[in-house]
Amino acid sequence: MVVTRKIQVETKGHTDIVPLTEQVVEVLKESGLSSGILCLFLPGTTAILTTTEFEPGLVKDIKDFWERIAPVTQFYEHNARWQDGNGYAHVRAQVSGPSLVVPFVEGKLLLGTWQDIVLVDFDNRPRLRTIVVQIVGE
Ligand code: ZN
Repeated sequence: MVVTRKIQVETKGHTDIVPLTEQVVEVLKESGLSSGILCLFLPGTTAILTTTEFEPGLVKDIKDFWERIAPVTQFYEHNARWQDGNGYAHVRAQVSGPSLVVPFVEGKLLLGTWQDIVLVDFDNRPRLRTIVVQIVGE
């Protein structure tokens, strides 16, 4: 059986890291499925889905990491062409990508003890993000 749902979250942009685990668990519960895989997909090119331990120190470390990898103020051809100032955000999103797959058994996601599903929004403005959740299971 395949169940498709959507989750919406408001982000602040600027490498905002938003925990999603609770909402994903809720969607899985509502699906009534017991075992299978849950796919999360973010339609967009300036944000990613990934997992991390969601604690303030690491959240700051991750923001610092992305600033070193693709600094906001560097020159980007994308900005020169479109003047939207988010070239860094598109480049950062390339690295990790827009989707994530999590297996589940007996109605429970097989996440690690400290592992949270998160959305990282790199864009240079607040966004309302839609995440597609597609669950394939029985
Ligand atoms: Zn852009």
